Amino acid sequence: MFGCDLVGVTAYDNRWVYATRADIKTFEKKPNDLPLGLTNVIVMGHGMDYDLVKSYPSALAGAAVGMGYSGEAVTVAQLSQFIRNLGYQAIGSMNDTALVIPMAVQAGLGEYGRNQMVITEEFGPRVRFSKIFTDLPLVHDKPKKFGVTEFCNICQRCADACPPKALPYGPPKEGGPNRSAINGVKKWTADCEKCFSFWTKMRSDCAICMRVCPYNKDFNGPIMRLARRLAGTRLRRLMLWLDIKLGYGQRVAPSRWWRSNQKDA
Ligand code: SF4
Ligand code: SF4
Repeated sequence: MFGCDLVGVTAYDNRWVYATRADIKTFEKKPNDLPLGLTNVIVMGHGMDYDLVKSYPSALAGAAVGMGYSGEAVTVAQLSQFIRNLGYQAIGSMNDTALVIPMAVQAGLGEYGRNQMVITEEFGPRVRFSKIFTDLPLVHDKPKKFGVTEFCNICQRCADACPPKALPYGPPKEGGPNRSAINGVKKWTADCEKCFSFWTKMRSDCAICMRVCPYNKDFNGPIMRLARRLAGTRLRRLMLWLDIKLGYGQRVAPSRWWRSNQKDA
């Protein structure tokens, strides 16, 4: 009703909550206190525009992110207030307060990929997440698998395409290259410091690893849905080969996007 594309529910898990937060005036650390008694997290997914994502890295593609954030903020605020009106606690959150990726996986919204993103069945990696912490009694969803881990095991398109080589090759490992990595979890871990340094050098968003991912497709049509199903079977190597051969994931220049939209207008 309030406009998100995906929704799942999982148990509140303190392991994913940040120990501290930054004071927005002084940038000093301050406690990240949440109220007692929170039992559940509602995780919401917000799909990003397929055509804009094709132009990553660009300021134009940054509009896809900005539009995502704007829509998320409205949805989170409205649903949080709705829950509070029912008499329960509701703390809305976007990128702040806690890691959303493990919660999205636990809530059955997708699988974790080599590119550090949750790959959803509906949008692939082209999705943003927000969350609401609550004590509203809710039934929990379960993690769902559709072959992403197995596909990432044979694919490294994101790692190959990453300009500063911030994404890992090989199987998931524990730990990471620097203090920005989470310890104690076996997973694919990026060198986030290399990644974000690249963003600052470009002075724009980079999500090449989202654009080139074979799961970054428009799944509204039956052909792409069939391709997604086959990617989860023993035919995954063939599907990967076809994806590259057919030129999916290549960058579309922002000027082409503007021209195509002028024609539509
Ligand atoms: S966002 Fe860009 S720099 Fe960062 S991991 Fe992805 S491709 Fe690499
Ligand atoms: S590009 Fe390939 S390896 Fe990277 S996340 Fe997508 S499927 Fe996995």
